[in-house]
Amino acid sequence: MIYFDHAATTPVRPEVVSVIQESLIEDFGNPSSTYALGRRTRQQIEQSRRIFAASIKADPADIIITSCGSESNNTAIIPTALALKGKGKHLITSAAEHHAVLHPMHYLETLGFEVTYLPVDEAGKVPLQSLKDAVRADTILVSLMYANNEVGSINPVAEIGAFLAEKDILFHTDAVQAYGSEQIDVRQQQIDLLSVSAHKINGPKGIGFLYRKNGLHLPNFIHGGSQENDHRGGTENTPYIRGFAEAVVLMEAERTESNRKKRELSDYFLRGLEKSGIRFESNSVHAEGVPHILSIWLPGMRSDKLLIQCDLKGIMLAAGSACTAGSLEPSHVLEAMYGKGNPRATESLRISFGSDNTTAEVDTLLDLLQSIHKKQYKNG
Ligand code: PLP
Repeated sequence: MIYFDHAATTPVRPEVVSVIQESLIEDFGNPSSTYALGRRTRQQIEQSRRIFAASIKADPADIIITSCGSESNNTAIIPTALALKGKGKHLITSAAEHHAVLHPMHYLETLGFEVTYLPVDEAGKVPLQSLKDAVRADTILVSLMYANNEVGSINPVAEIGAFLAEKDILFHTDAVQAYGSEQIDVRQQQIDLLSVSAHKINGPKGIGFLYRKNGLHLPNFIHGGSQENDHRGGTENTPYIRGFAEAVVLMEAERTESNRKKRELSDYFLRGLEKSGIRFESNSVHAEGVPHILSIWLPGMRSDKLLIQCDLKGIMLAAGSACTAGSLEPSHVLEAMYGKGNPRATESLRISFGSDNTTAEVDTLLDLLQSIHKKQYKNG
């Protein structure tokens, strides 16, 4: 089995599994209770919160622990828009966002909000000028992703933050794909809301956090108990919170080396493709994007068929985002970059590396692509 789909999800580290196992047994006390068992569990949660906060240079009080990146995005967008509708009903995002941003935006449109979907350039980034041109007096929130999940491109987050701070417009960024590799500083980059998910950094699925800048006083998304400093109801998932914190500690300790390894693997893959004679073009401006994601266009080779052939050989990768993999829909990200109907949207593969991948695994993928390519061109 060869796993090249780390942008979809990552394997849980054994160290994280140990922490979760221990916590499942030891931390079963309700953190809202006053007795010792509950108090201990609360301390564990607050210690984890400090780790999350430090990782993005935020205050622990500004971290809301959520059930996933999708919940973080929904919480950042829907209650914010509803709370600010007296000020304006215009929102801005990009056409290349994850569905966990696009779909809340579509939902808000049904409630009478107006959404501008900015185009992206061929590098997959939002040109700052197009944001400047789109901003209006009634714009209340801009949601632009930090790093794209299909091609890996990184938006100019600090420039966007500085521009929006000056205009007094709230800035949310979906940092789910960037959190593992990039150094995030929410104050310096002037980010008001930021979404993260644990399962992209070798933590468990079903846990994430939202950074929400102090003083925003926005309504809750999940109403219920007074957990998360009154910002999100629901008894805390202490084992996964602690497992996530452990994954963050490991990620930070190994980030530089892990980034170097992933970049080396994708450079090795690109060099191999060039040598192999396979017709291809990269959809990723690799040197400028996150190190784990590489998207390539293989002209004339349908990605759904390629995925099946890879699967038969035990190689796992993706055509588009996790949500569109397995369906025949063209990639909305590649269509945003290259135009509707462009063959790249149905003839591209996303290879996403983890630091455990090896050059031997890359060679196996290259050999397979070469044999498919040869057959394809022999048969006309
Ligand atoms: N945002 C981006 C950019 C993603 O890549 C993903 C996951 O694929 C999500 C949000 C959703 O995260 P989760 O699966 O934790 O809900």
